Amino acid sequence: MDTLAAGVTQLRIQRFVNVYFVETGTPGEWVLIDTGLPGSAKTIIAAADKLFYPGTHPEAIILTHGHLDHLGSARELADHWNVPVVVHPLELPYVTGKALYPPRDPTVGGSLAFMSRFFPTQLPNLEDRVQALDADDPSTPYLMNFRWLHVPGHAPGQLAFFREADGVLIGADAFATTHHDSVPAVLLGIPKISRAGTPFNYDWQAARQSVQTLAALEPKAIGCGHGPVITGPEAAAGLRALADNYPVPSHGRYVNEPARTDASGVEHLPPAPKDKLPMQAAIVGASLLAAGAAWLLTGGRRKTRKESKAYKRAYKASQKTRKYQSPPPPPLYRGGVGS
Ligand SMILES: [Zn+2]
Ligand SMILES: [Zn+2]
Repeated sequence: MDTLAAGVTQLRIQRFVNVYFVETGTPGEWVLIDTGLPGSAKTIIAAADKLFYPGTHPEAIILTHGHLDHLGSARELADHWNVPVVVHPLELPYVTGKALYPPRDPTVGGSLAFMSRFFPTQLPNLEDRVQALDADDPSTPYLMNFRWLHVPGHAPGQLAFFREADGVLIGADAFATTHHDSVPAVLLGIPKISRAGTPFNYDWQAARQSVQTLAALEPKAIGCGHGPVITGPEAAAGLRALADNYPVPSHGRYVNEPARTDASGVEHLPPAPKDKLPMQAAIVGASLLAAGAAWLLTGGRRKTRKESKAYKRAYKASQKTRKYQSPPPPPLYRGGVGS
């Protein structure tokens, strides 16, 4: 656990995603912001018991957004503590089983985007636990010493939280405090204020605007969904630099046209660009299968020279068929699980 500021503690889960224990200002009261991936509940409960006292519980769980790495253990924790789960009203369809997020964009570049093809898709339903905050009231329910800010672009109802008194910012996935496009950098926790969640950003102009909104706060301490705590002058300077030179990718599904969403979910999607990876994977897979079959047919290990010839034949065969491969079917609609 790391201290972000007085009464604000960051817990990093599975070297990947953060949750926050935040004291409300009323003695003995606290809220949990975000819940990590599914299966994180025991770790979070144990950390809370250690930080406060055994058997403690928060006043509420507040979700920055409903992507699976932030919502994953919300059901288990809310049931365990018997507390509400607070979200922005625009997140309601995605956390009550009514809509999927705009589909992820694996073509946008970076290792996170590459990996996003393999992230699971789920349609969580917290309907009996969820409470939407009042969009006309800037104070945060159960956490009156912070105000919330609506920072869309990554998730339609994404929330950041700011404590004016000492400049503490919880930035969600509006940006990250590590190089979020790179899975190794995330796992190593190398500090760097960066754009976040590229394969899940459905509106790049809104994502840029959200970073500009947060940079204008000139925060003195920053904790995000991904990456370590950053405090001191580097916090405001790093965020200002990102806002002034926000790197919208050069290509990707949502670069020229955003997905449009409304209170009930996704309203319009730009067409998906051709994803070349399934074709490349199919060619590699077919080549490996052909080579494996040839190895078996030629007697395997005992016939080293023949084996090598068989590999060459299989390789040539696969190269011949390569140009005649029919294109793969269009990718299935897979809603955002998130990062
Ligand atoms: Zn996310
Ligand atoms: Zn995330």
